[in-house]
Amino acid sequence: MDFTYTAEQEAFRKEFRGWLAANLPHDLRVDDPADDRVASTREVFERRCAWQKAMRKAGWIGIAWPTEHGGRAASIIERVIWDEEYAAARAPVLPGMGLNLVGPTIIHWGTDEQKHRYLPRILDADEIWAQGFSEPGAGSDLASLATRAEDRGDHFLVNGQKVWTSGAQYAHAIILLVRTDPSAPKHDGISCLLVDMSTPGIAVRPLVLATGHHHFNEVFFTDVVVPKRQLLGPLNGGWKVSTTTLMYERHSSGARNPIGQVRDLLAAARRLPVDGGTAWDDPRIRQRLAQLYIDCEAMKYTRFRALTRQNRGEPPGPEGSILKLSGSELGVRIADAAGEVLGMHALVNRGSELVPDAPRWLNRLVAARQYTISAGTSEIQRNILGERVLGLPKG
Ligand SMILES: Cc1cc2nc3c(=O)[nH]c(=O)nc-3n(C[C@H](O)[C@H](O)[C@H](O)COP(=O)(O)OP(=O)(O)OC[C@H]3O[C@@H](n4cnc5c(N)ncnc54)[C@H](O)[C@@H]3O)c2cc1C
Repeated sequence: MDFTYTAEQEAFRKEFRGWLAANLPHDLRVDDPADDRVASTREVFERRCAWQKAMRKAGWIGIAWPTEHGGRAASIIERVIWDEEYAAARAPVLPGMGLNLVGPTIIHWGTDEQKHRYLPRILDADEIWAQGFSEPGAGSDLASLATRAEDRGDHFLVNGQKVWTSGAQYAHAIILLVRTDPSAPKHDGISCLLVDMSTPGIAVRPLVLATGHHHFNEVFFTDVVVPKRQLLGPLNGGWKVSTTTLMYERHSSGARNPIGQVRDLLAAARRLPVDGGTAWDDPRIRQRLAQLYIDCEAMKYTRFRALTRQNRGEPPGPEGSILKLSGSELGVRIADAAGEVLGMHALVNRGSELVPDAPRWLNRLVAARQYTISAGTSEIQRNILGERVLGLPKG
């Protein structure tokens, strides 16, 4: 592993940092990118789309995408630099389902017509996507999904229900897993469709988090007509397509390093009054925060190791699962530490003189565990690592 940046990479960092400093509107900055990964209101959503358009114009969107599809084929190190600078600038989470998951899946599996139709609109934030995989009876065991797509000649007729669909309230389109052959073994009867959310027969109902944030939804499909040209990948070959999407999802969740949260927690521990002093006076607290900082650094280097493999042209390994598992579990440890370090200050639910960034710590306490469930639960990641890395027998 080589940790030194070349002069070109340093120049890339300087250019992006400078561009963000000059162009990111102050009121779009977020205290914590773990909050509001789905915009809290339509107005915020639209401003974030406008922000993506501005970034796109300046060439800072989809940098990892191949040049023939509108990206700039950025190197892996440039992608790391992009992530670091974007987080350091406290820029908001982009409506990224299309950029991070659907676009790359279409690049891999799509027809030329689909690439031409969808990819530019994803980059330009003209079409925002949702992911319609999970169902009430199919989460970890995704292949049990029951949403049915019947072959009706030139189209499929879709009936069923999806759940936990993040951002569906804003989405223009959804990548949908459906059952096209109920008589085949469960992994072999699934197909993937690209569905316009304005098609008659689609109903979206909100599911609100304990924080009060409208993050995800139930989505119902009643006699929804989907033209056959919107099939992505082979008929009944949707399981492989979904594996591509999930691989990108795990890799993109691993890109988020919570070191910014730990830095802010350190600053709060030094500042906030507790029992006549500050939390920082307690050596056990200092040790705990130091351990969290070390865990973030370890995560950063685990990601570097994974990226080095990719740089050498080796196939993606289990690092997506390692990063997804370690990152989300670390998020929970940070939230638990915040509760202990900040005491009652962690419960403040609106910005105050002492806790100007409230309710971020309250949100962490209430909601950090959600990321140990999304994109495959911690137990499922451990199963993958146990079976595929350690060679343990199937559970
Ligand atoms: C914040 C968030 C956003 C999400 N966004 C989306 C989205 O946009 N689109 C979408 O399609 N889905 C989304 N999901 C759904 C997510 O993918 C599922 O919640 C997840 O796959 C788990 O499925 P489940 O909720 O049905 O739990 P279940 O699969 O029912 O699991 C229940 C419990 O059993 C455990 N378990 C299950 N099977 C095993 C096993 N084989 N071995 C050991 N333990 C096991 C699980 O780990 C879990 O603890 C989101 C979820 C969250 C929390």
